[in-house]
Amino acid sequence: MSQFKCTQCNKEFSAGEWICTDGVSHHVVEEKTYRCLDAPSDPSTKDASLKDGRTVVCNIPPPKRVMEGNDAKWVGEGSVEFIRGRFTTSDPEQQYWLDKKSAYNATEDQWRAAWFSKSQQLEVGRLELEAARQRLENERNELLAKTKQKVSSAA
Ligand SMILES: [Zn+2]
Repeated sequence: MSQFKCTQCNKEFSAGEWICTDGVSHHVVEEKTYRCLDAPSDPSTKDASLKDGRTVVCNIPPPKRVMEGNDAKWVGEGSVEFIRGRFTTSDPEQQYWLDKKSAYNATEDQWRAAWFSKSQQLEVGRLELEAARQRLENERNELLAKTKQKVSSAA
């Protein structure tokens, strides 16, 4: 059984107990990002899809069966919208249903491979390397500054 903890009222609750203390809105949990890999596979359309690749996922949450007199009705179906294959939510009910679907639980690396063209992936890798190099250089400069301070205060 999934357990959630609300960041608003601090209550721990189970799936289905979505309503927070105000009796209306849902509990709020830690944000989680979902990723899907259904980017267009034609590389020539890949760059266009990066700008406005939108996918509406229905059945999040699925409708609930209610009786109206003798008639059963299905109400309350929700949907969420993935933009560029990503969707972030702090709604525990959306998380609960999305967690069940492996198609929307891709890793960051899988997402990048599906949504970025080869050259964009190389560019991201280059930027990450550059950032790492910059961090190292900053650390070295700090170290150097500290050493100089020590030398000058010792003199
Ligand atoms: Zn709550």
